[in-house]
Amino acid sequence: MKSYDVAIIGSGPGGYVAAIRCAQLGMTTAIIEKYSTLGGTCLNVGCIPSKALLSSSHHYEEATKHFEDHGIEIPGEIKVNLEKMIARKQAVVDQTTGGIDFLMKKNKIDVYEGLGSFKDATHIQIEGKDAGEIEAKNIIIATGSKPSNLPFIELDKERIITSTEALKLKEVPKHLMIIGGGVIGLELGQVYRRLGAEVTVIEYMDRILPTMDAGLSKELNKVFKKAKCKMMMSHKVQSVERKGDEVIVKAENKKGEVVEFKGDYCLVSVGRRPYTDGLNAEAAGVKINDRGQVEVNEHLQTSVSNIYAIGDVVRGAMLAHKAEEEGVFVAETLVGQKPHIDYNLIPGVVYTWPEVAAVGKTEEELKADDIEYKVGQFPFRALGRARASGDIDGFVKILADKTTDEVLGVHMIGARCADLIAEAVTAMEFRASAEDISRYSHAHPTFAEAVKEAALAATDDRPLHV
Ligand code: FAD
Ligand code: NAD
Repeated sequence: MKSYDVAIIGSGPGGYVAAIRCAQLGMTTAIIEKYSTLGGTCLNVGCIPSKALLSSSHHYEEATKHFEDHGIEIPGEIKVNLEKMIARKQAVVDQTTGGIDFLMKKNKIDVYEGLGSFKDATHIQIEGKDAGEIEAKNIIIATGSKPSNLPFIELDKERIITSTEALKLKEVPKHLMIIGGGVIGLELGQVYRRLGAEVTVIEYMDRILPTMDAGLSKELNKVFKKAKCKMMMSHKVQSVERKGDEVIVKAENKKGEVVEFKGDYCLVSVGRRPYTDGLNAEAAGVKINDRGQVEVNEHLQTSVSNIYAIGDVVRGAMLAHKAEEEGVFVAETLVGQKPHIDYNLIPGVVYTWPEVAAVGKTEEELKADDIEYKVGQFPFRALGRARASGDIDGFVKILADKTTDEVLGVHMIGARCADLIAEAVTAMEFRASAEDISRYSHAHPTFAEAVKEAALAATDDRPLHV
């Protein structure tokens, strides 16, 4: 039986990054993955394929709706070849997962293909292509998550689908009904709206993206409405039924009336659940809490001292970069280092267009915590760079402590915000004040100038360009 310093179960961004860092730190490392490709949800059926389709559909929308504004005329009809678009997405996924194979080899990490399950706290049974048993001094659980469902919905995965199927449809839906106005619903809803589907978003709460700052929800809702998506807030879905090629969704609105929606596809995107099926965690004595998460302490250690858990399978945001940070954290902890993660500074991004990005506290959270704050907001339409490219929707909002001026939260919606948020994270990691941000130079003309202007607005209400 082969023996390792560390064995990692699951090869998503949590697991594979943990493996690389463990190997870099000199530990003999194994990774076990039940699927034939590495990379987990993120690379195979999550971040990467969804961004590939968002990019392709964005190009289509630009070509059909905005090229003419720029004086670009395309004779003849511009058409979508969905099969080709999906094939390109798959090629991007294959190239990316192939890259992880390379990284495993480069770092001399042994990869086992098969389902890993605990025999006890130091032994893992592998079932599948590389069946057998391995021993490890330390084990990291990085088994991720799967889509959640509502108890009364039967997912047939043809017309009543999750994000996994929505990433490989064979036709553009005529009418895509989306249950859940969260990140997945909005990103994939925008993909298919751009490609010509009628889209209805049915959300239980009174706004989309209910965990983000309300100002962002409001602005993105406007964008979706402008694109003629039906945005049905405060609707509690009661049933989803398939009749032939038709799907019927019934939901109760605020007034208590039952409203019926009919379409040809229904995407269920109501969150994800931690995944520990088949892991046999109890054989090692690892505690799973009543939310299905592997219970961990502040060192990401489970109830068994040599077993750690990271990523979507533990508490906190279900984000690839959060999983990666935790992978590095555990590897460094294992060699006696003292790593640190500030969970308040893990940014959240929605890759619609305009992009939505945020870090730190929302206004709602600051109010709930009785923290006095100042707001500085700056609209992209006032920037030369935004007008030059034609991307004028959105704003940057900076929340700063009323007394100390320390930046407490940054919330933005607009072109390239997914990248702009990195500046806010950096500033907040170094506990910058709004004035600090307003005093360093931002290249002109860039979208980043909106961050400086919002900081000027927060400091003492003196933006330069509005
Ligand atoms: P996962 O990526 O889920 O990986 C877990 C792996 O463990 C899987 O490969 C699984 O097969 C394997 N596994 C499970 N049990 C076993 C076992 N017993 N034995 C062997 N292997 C096992 N996040 C972002 O930050 N940005 C985005 O843009 C983004 N987009 C997304 C889009 C979609 C459509 C979806 C669904 C998710 C998206 N996410 C995004 C979320 C992101 O994918 C997850 O947060 C991330 O993948 C979590 O990483 P992980 O390593 O914890 O788990
Ligand atoms: P989510 O938590 O973002 O959104 C789920 C939405 O469904 C919420 O708005 C919720 O109020 C709503 N909802 C719940 N029950 C409902 C019901 N009965 N009827 C109507 N609406 C209901 O979850 P998601 O969009 O499924 O995404 C899952 C996870 O994947 C998220 O945690 C997210 O962090 C991650 N993800 C991240 C990205 C990104 O970072 N860009 C992209 C996709 C997914």
